[in-house]
Amino acid sequence: MFDGAFEDEVAAWKAQGRGRSLDGAGQGPLLVDFTSNDVLGLSKHPSVVSAAVAAIEEHGAGGRASRLLGGGAPTTRTVESQAAAWIGAEDALLFPSGYQANLTLLSSLVGPGDLVFSDALNHASLIDGARLSRAKVHVTRHADPAHLDELLAATTGARRRIVITESVFSMDGDAAPLAELAEVCDRHGAGLIVDEAHAVGVVGPEGRGHWAAQSIDAECLIARLVTGGKALGVGGAFIVGSGALVDMLVHRGRGFVFTTAVAPALVGGLSRAIELAANANDARACLKRNAVRVAAALELAEPIAAIVPFVVGGENEAVRAAEQLAAAGLDVRAVRPPTVPEGTSRLRIVCRSGHTGSQIEALLGHLQQAAPSMRTQGSQARDHLELADPHAASGPESGSPERVQPPLFVVGTDTGIGKTVASACLARALDALYWKPVQTGDDCDTTEVERLAGPLRSGAPRTVAPPSYAFPLPASPHTAAHAADATIRPAQLAFDLAAHTEAAGPARLVVELAGGLLVPLTGCFTQADWLERARPDIVLIARSGLGTLNHTLLTIEALRNRGLVPRALLLVGEEHPANRETLRPFVEHLLELPPLHPLNTASVDAWLQTNDLAGALA
Ligand code: PMP
Repeated sequence: MFDGAFEDEVAAWKAQGRGRSLDGAGQGPLLVDFTSNDVLGLSKHPSVVSAAVAAIEEHGAGGRASRLLGGGAPTTRTVESQAAAWIGAEDALLFPSGYQANLTLLSSLVGPGDLVFSDALNHASLIDGARLSRAKVHVTRHADPAHLDELLAATTGARRRIVITESVFSMDGDAAPLAELAEVCDRHGAGLIVDEAHAVGVVGPEGRGHWAAQSIDAECLIARLVTGGKALGVGGAFIVGSGALVDMLVHRGRGFVFTTAVAPALVGGLSRAIELAANANDARACLKRNAVRVAAALELAEPIAAIVPFVVGGENEAVRAAEQLAAAGLDVRAVRPPTVPEGTSRLRIVCRSGHTGSQIEALLGHLQQAAPSMRTQGSQARDHLELADPHAASGPESGSPERVQPPLFVVGTDTGIGKTVASACLARALDALYWKPVQTGDDCDTTEVERLAGPLRSGAPRTVAPPSYAFPLPASPHTAAHAADATIRPAQLAFDLAAHTEAAGPARLVVELAGGLLVPLTGCFTQADWLERARPDIVLIARSGLGTLNHTLLTIEALRNRGLVPRALLLVGEEHPANRETLRPFVEHLLELPPLHPLNTASVDAWLQTNDLAGALA
């Protein structure tokens, strides 16, 4: 009966360029995540996950009833004490979400006849909590203690006056001047509530938030909001404050009294996440470095935490830029009115501790394309543009009559494990061209592949080109280059790869990397970074024996962390049923390549007859 009216309402929003959709929600893992608040990666941390599972197994899946009617895990009170001790307060109370916590806190604390002073850029949960309370709300200019001072001086006689602010603002990423605000509050006898949703875990000693970072000595602080679903990676939220405050909420907080207790899994996961977050100083330093790099390249002020807002202006421009970034494998979301003021639609870039240098550079490079008016500083972002996707010019739209196939990279878990023999088998099975971009040491893998794989079926030479770089020292590429007083330029490799892929035409190009996956090409650019940029098909080569499982699974994990999945795994060496069966679930195709005696083309062909390598990669 009402659906027509609902559809009209949504159509009106869409007509203003404000359409929203759940499509793609939660699909972040396919793209590089520059949008979620899981900035320390704790949501997937194995010990957080297993703590949540253990809590379910011990206490069940659900909260069962409100806390006051016996609901929740017995450990809920423990995690509340843990949160309070971490943040530095007497007590804490756990809520199902930060939104609900803010609504409950404000509607319990103030009511008609009271005054709330709310920063102009506060989060909706603070705004809605103030509205629900029916106190009179004064909106203060953003992060402006002088304006607050003026308003407090002009408004006396209320029962309670409460100031509410975020400590790190969720859409602007800047910090509230907490020390100055606290001084003004103390002077006027007003209370202060600080929402630390985007600060906790990210700033302050042991990640205890922005208030703790400032060592503020003030009377006014009533409560801090500590969300569990952002840097802690789990969910729920704590109101942290005095024992008297928590007791008041237990009696009067309708959003606490009348809701089912938080599920045990959240409690278990939160407890472990707090321990990890408190000890994550290194991760916080990485996160900060990444955010500072992004902000510097965009000529924005240094961010205090993880959020870097890149204001584009128009709503359509912001959405278009986000779509272009998504097409490049980067998940950055557009934020538009009413979440942010009119004319300030933006890309809300959220940096993570786990972002690699190449992911950051990829973001900056693509941002420059997506939002061309943007100015970048320094040469690094421009250098990065030289590394443009080598496939970009190779699609059918490039005018090439035959579709160019993505190159097939032969990636090893280590050095000396049989990559060259495996490359020869691949090249012969697929009738593919071969290229070794970087050769170190006296052996020449190109000659060996030519010997083992022979020429192409057409009679043309197997090798598309000699290595771009060859150094005599048998060492990792960056070390061997250094010893020869040379430097490997990733941009040159990207250029050569694009050229050789194009030259291969409809044939496949097999590319054999040097050593193991994470071997550096330059001091700060590994082979994995190159793969992440080039996004080729990958065949992983491991030797079979003792230690294979760990090496192989670490390599698969490192690939996955970059959004890459090997097409097949080749175990080189004597057959090893235990390794084979253990690794089989981790890859789509697994083949074993035993030592070939004699090591010649006939042996390669004999092995290929019983092992359908081409079929596995079709
Ligand atoms: N406060 C702030 C500043 C927030 O950004 C958010 C979440 N976006 C919340 C509160 C609400 O927290 P939750 O997601 O746990 O409901």
